[in-house]
Amino acid sequence: MGKNYKIAVIAGDGIGKEVVPEGQRVVEAAARRFGFSVDWTEFDWNCDYYARHGRMMPEDGVEQVRGADAIFLGAVGWPTVPDHISTWDLILKLRRELGLYVALRPARLLKGIVSPLAGRTAKDIDFVIVRENSEGEYSAAGGLLYEGTSEEMVIQESVFSKRAIDRILRYAFDLARTRRKKVSLATKSNGIKIAMPYWDARFAAIAREYPDVAHDKFHIDILTAHFVVHPDWFDVVVGSNLFGDILSDLGPAVAGSIGIAPSGNIDPSRTNPSMFEPVHGSAPDIAGQGIANPIGQIWAAAMMLEHLGELEAAKAIETAIESVIGGNGPRTRDLGGNAATVEAGKAIAEALA
Ligand code: ATP
Ligand code: MG
Repeated sequence: MGKNYKIAVIAGDGIGKEVVPEGQRVVEAAARRFGFSVDWTEFDWNCDYYARHGRMMPEDGVEQVRGADAIFLGAVGWPTVPDHISTWDLILKLRRELGLYVALRPARLLKGIVSPLAGRTAKDIDFVIVRENSEGEYSAAGGLLYEGTSEEMVIQESVFSKRAIDRILRYAFDLARTRRKKVSLATKSNGIKIAMPYWDARFAAIAREYPDVAHDKFHIDILTAHFVVHPDWFDVVVGSNLFGDILSDLGPAVAGSIGIAPSGNIDPSRTNPSMFEPVHGSAPDIAGQGIANPIGQIWAAAMMLEHLGELEAAKAIETAIESVIGGNGPRTRDLGGNAATVEAGKAIAEALA
């Protein structure tokens, strides 16, 4: 008997509610083929929930999902609720309280997708961004000083602990060992005088634990340029919360449409469920029309299965995506076709069967 997985589903708002069922459809097809089963528990936490309850999820929401094997998230956010509430009180709360300190984003050009970088093909763009997701530049330390005077200023402190830097670097090196064995660090030690030389030093120290993995480092400014000009140089790219955030949008952008990119929020210790979602948001402009591209959600499902140890199933989903968009299968409007969300999802599920 194959394993049974308990998955918490938060479809969220807008197109989240349209693409999540397609992700589930494809996981079910993979489960049939590879002999595992999934129990889905759905949570209706979104901006409608907020309208009814004045909060994005119940007070014990984190506890309700803590026992799951993974969380499958669509997209959260709607124009009726300020972003800082919908995001902070749901997604960021889950990330923080579940200790999901790695944000993982593959940037891989799928067969059948045209990169905005002219002439680039699938063999040129295949890297992963590993973002430190627990501290750093996004801290609440600092404040407004001398308010109302001509000296008014704000101070925003960055906080970097050795523990958090070392664990994210080790995650990056471990990941590289499963790939092409190269790690690149995003740094800025020529400008950020205290924190970034420290990152450089920790990077050199951790790299010594991995003599079989190549490593190099780039200042964040030139690194963004290299993503565009030399995407083929990169395998695993690791950076602080801010640098990783910037790279996490640029990487998937060079690999094509926003509708296809997936992301993982990982607890490598596996104490708590990791969370998988597409990169895109709830897309109010196209929500309700059934035309959203489900591939970002489906690829996120593949990442989730990979994390759960269903490696063959994960690989098969990626292959099925490529066989549909690389062949003449149905494509949604953002990829130049006119297929509905459901048609695209069904085609991928069928390719898998
Ligand atoms: P976030 O909620 O993360 O802040 P956002 O508001 O910046 O996201 P999205 O909601 O991702 O942005 O939408 C950005 C644009 O991309 C919109 O025009 C939207 O229609 C389009 N888009 C996003 N996801 C998809 C998808 N799956 N299929 C087709 N188009 C999409
Ligand atoms: Mg938005």
